[in-house]
Amino acid sequence: MLELHGQQLIGNEASAEGPDTFHGMNPATGAQLPTAFHEATAGEIDRAMQLAADVFNEYRARSVEDRATFLETIADEVDALGDQLLETANAETALPQEPRLKGERGRATNQMRLFAKVIREGSWVDPRIDLPQPDRKPLPKPDVRSMLVPIGPVVVFGASNFPLAISVVGCDTVSALGAGCPVVVKAHPAHPGTCELLGIAVLKAAEKCNMPNGVFSMVHGTGNEVGRQLTEHPATQAVAFTGSLGGGRAVFDIAAKRPNPIPVYTEMGSTNPVFVLPGALAERAKQIAAGYIQSVTLAVGQFCTNPGMVIGQKSDTLTEFVNEAASLAGGYAPTTQLHNGINQAFRAGVDRIDKTSGVAVAGRSETEADASASQAECVIFSTDVATFESNPHLSDEVFGPTSTVVQCDSRDEMLRIAKNLSGHLTATIHGTEEDINNNRDLLALLENKVGRIVFNGFPTGIEVCSAMHHGGPYPATTDGHFTSIGTGSILRFVRPVCYQGFPDGALPEELRNQNTRGVWRLVDNELTKDNAN
Ligand code: NAP
Repeated sequence: MLELHGQQLIGNEASAEGPDTFHGMNPATGAQLPTAFHEATAGEIDRAMQLAADVFNEYRARSVEDRATFLETIADEVDALGDQLLETANAETALPQEPRLKGERGRATNQMRLFAKVIREGSWVDPRIDLPQPDRKPLPKPDVRSMLVPIGPVVVFGASNFPLAISVVGCDTVSALGAGCPVVVKAHPAHPGTCELLGIAVLKAAEKCNMPNGVFSMVHGTGNEVGRQLTEHPATQAVAFTGSLGGGRAVFDIAAKRPNPIPVYTEMGSTNPVFVLPGALAERAKQIAAGYIQSVTLAVGQFCTNPGMVIGQKSDTLTEFVNEAASLAGGYAPTTQLHNGINQAFRAGVDRIDKTSGVAVAGRSETEADASASQAECVIFSTDVATFESNPHLSDEVFGPTSTVVQCDSRDEMLRIAKNLSGHLTATIHGTEEDINNNRDLLALLENKVGRIVFNGFPTGIEVCSAMHHGGPYPATTDGHFTSIGTGSILRFVRPVCYQGFPDGALPEELRNQNTRGVWRLVDNELTKDNAN
């Protein structure tokens, strides 16, 4: 058992310079957890960032094999934390150890091992070679080659709802380390002990793999100041943020005001509209309702992909869907949320919708939620298009097990809702083949609004793979080009460098004439693994 010390991890030094401390809380009991965590001082933040900048060149020069082994060793060290990790995360977040936290740990370590494979294979650096044509008329063509190189120290903010897979060792950290960037993590104040255990696992792996001291650091803080200083620090070259719209936007604005603005990849909240089309409702209204309520209540609704609104055309089958969803919501036993702040925001959000004229409660948990245990009930609302359109808060994310069904009078109304959507992470369509053929225009509208479209499924549960896109137009993210989940997320932490007229031996290995790494390269506009001449 590791004993928690509550200090900053600045490279391999533990530091507690500041007098201010805070404690993790058990959301189920309201009890304060024993370890006092020190708020990072400006000096500690500066040391962590400076160390990251100092070792950047040494780290990026390490071989691909070294970096891949480092990621795999982090996975082994996370596994070696055993039950202590699950117990600590459970005490801090109320997420059940089985199956949730165990599953999430598997997702986190699989993610590390997947990135190790991706960087070993190597084609992700996108090598491009345009061979010279010295005799070209009227001007000779130079030798031009390019590939992606790491960007520099990355600051990572994890979210409270994924303490293992979107936190200290989540996709942001792993993809940045895999790309060749040192990482400084802002530990999440809602699970600081879990963060410390994971931070120590990364540092153990760094030591075992003989990585430079400073390739990873982690600092604690509550109340925005630590995050602001990390984002403003001159050594920071990119920020990856997962969390609320307010937090993400604040970090984005801080970065934009720097003398030298840097990229900020924020993944924020989303309401994830679900369109239920007439053919699907006629075939299986009750079945869709069951999947919907399961998705709305999964992890007490604390997923950024939670289906927060359903849009359908008024009909007997839509009524059947709403009634079934309402009845299933009634049977949902209120459950403790991640922390009291999230629970209070949920209660306030539900209350606001409840008090909106024109909105009715279709169904609600029959058992009352216990506020002292930060419990949330399931509430399903129903409304019409006029009410929905005149109350913009009805399309805002309420983080927890609630969702609103918008009942349209016509297909045109449904299309208008789709057309007026803001950016979301996902949209879902339930339909038959005929529905899809009759609603191609809906699909086209949704392509402009979201990063992932789910057909006859539900958006919760994100597969970590190469084709995954977890992002979307603002306000789902501040840069919809990039994903924060899946192997494509590594592209956030690199930029292209073009080498013109270089002697072969002075080029990075991936760009030399002999393709010794055996990677896919675009040579004179042809994708090939052949040598370049
Ligand atoms: P959060 O309150 O925004 O916190 C995230 C992190 O940002 C924390 O470390 C927080 O620490 C920091 N922070 C927040 N506001 C800040 C500010 N103004 N300046 C500097 N730092 C700031 O979010 P959360 O409660 O952890 O997570 C819940 C939210 O995350 C939900 O809205 C959910 O939809 C979203 N989420 C999105 C995704 C996705 O992939 N899109 C995934 C999971 C969750 P301090 O408060 O101490 O500063």
